[in-house]
Amino acid sequence: MERIFWVSCPSCRFRYSVDHALRRRADVTLECPRCRDRFPVESAASIED
Ligand SMILES: [Zn+2]
Repeated sequence: MERIFWVSCPSCRFRYSVDHALRRRADVTLECPRCRDRFPVESAASIED
C-alpha cells in the first residue's frame, strides 16, 4: 500500500500528495507541481496524513 501525505503549497495553495518517506527528512525540499515553487516540508501551508 502506498504511503502518502498531503501538502498545500505556501505560494499558490495547490494541494498535492507526497511520498510519506520524504516527510521524515528535514533536508527535503518539495517542488509544487503547479507553480514550481520550492519549499521545505515544514513550510507547507498545511499537512494532512
Ligand atoms: Zn504552488
